Amino acid sequence: MTIGILGGGQLGRMIALAGYPLGLSFKILDPSSDAVAGQIAPLLVEDINDTPALLWFSKNLDVVTYEWENVPVQSARYLEQRAPVFPPPKALEIAQDRLKEKSFFRENGVPTPDFAAIETKEEFELAIREIGLPSVLKTRRFGYDGKGQYVLKTKRDAEKAWEKLGGVPLILEAFVPFERELSILAVRSKSGEKRFYPLVENHHAEGILRLSLAPAPDWSQQLQTDAEKYASKILDKLGYVGVLALELFQVGERLIANEIAPRVHNSGHWTIEGSVSSQFENHVRAVADLPLGETKMKAPFAAMVNLIGELPPLCEVLKIEGTHAHYYGKEVKPNRKVGHITIVADDEATLKVRVGAVKKLLKE
Ligand code: AMP
Repeated sequence: MTIGILGGGQLGRMIALAGYPLGLSFKILDPSSDAVAGQIAPLLVEDINDTPALLWFSKNLDVVTYEWENVPVQSARYLEQRAPVFPPPKALEIAQDRLKEKSFFRENGVPTPDFAAIETKEEFELAIREIGLPSVLKTRRFGYDGKGQYVLKTKRDAEKAWEKLGGVPLILEAFVPFERELSILAVRSKSGEKRFYPLVENHHAEGILRLSLAPAPDWSQQLQTDAEKYASKILDKLGYVGVLALELFQVGERLIANEIAPRVHNSGHWTIEGSVSSQFENHVRAVADLPLGETKMKAPFAAMVNLIGELPPLCEVLKIEGTHAHYYGKEVKPNRKVGHITIVADDEATLKVRVGAVKKLLKE
């Protein structure tokens, strides 16, 4: 069986690495000849919007998946006429537009902040009156890692944000005074079977994920049950196949959905060594219509430290007990995700010490 992957970054590479032991083959489509998945699988360097390239790419593929949520929906739909595309293109369509995404949450009983769609200055002013301040103004499309958004605390902030973002479709969201950010990774098979990884706690800096802790400290069955219920609704409603990440804010004992990623996710990288079956393996199993693997943890505690714009000396990393290095084969550039380190431990205190030791090796 050959699986086509749209996008050849580290996620595509880790999907292929998980699929090889299962005897599967991979083919990658990416506009860049540097795409790191191309180091381990045949890479077609073409524009993802180019129909003849898509046609060529789809030859002899049994199934197509993607590792990039901005894959053009029309390209996914075009490929769907030639091979099954999982997750379904509908998931891309929703995840690419914050208004559709938040409306989808609301329609399916998944709590999400109050929001309003904005096209004009009048609509912006009305939305501020209705939703109030503080609030967050975001572009509906193509925002990521905190880009294309502003927190509005005062009317002056609102004016400045409008100057920067006005002119493209926007969404205003109520500001959520969250205690922390969590995510749940879930996988659904073609037959509708679902499995969930434990909730993880995520720490960001400058809009980029730096650290994930699994399970989330002070994990509770109630939080897990709620997160699974919300993820479940989303998966079933979309007839989803593959891994999905649901990013959540925790306020008291409540969970509020921020966004979905219809793909394997950075906050699930710890599962490579931390779980019986990693998110990558389960994604492959789901899209290849194989039985899903166990999502329970192999070690009681795990963490993932992202390597952003630097690769610490490998020997120093591996000297720390319980660490596993994943260097993506990318050229190191500022703010670029070039690797991650998984850390496992038998108790929380040891995990903390090991995470501290890894962080000490980083310049940031
Ligand atoms: P996003 O691009 O939607 O993931 O937002 C990037 C980050 O901005 C999130 O990880 C949060 O830290 C913060 N953020 C986004 N939306 C809200 C909100 N409605 N209330 C408070 N913080 C938010």
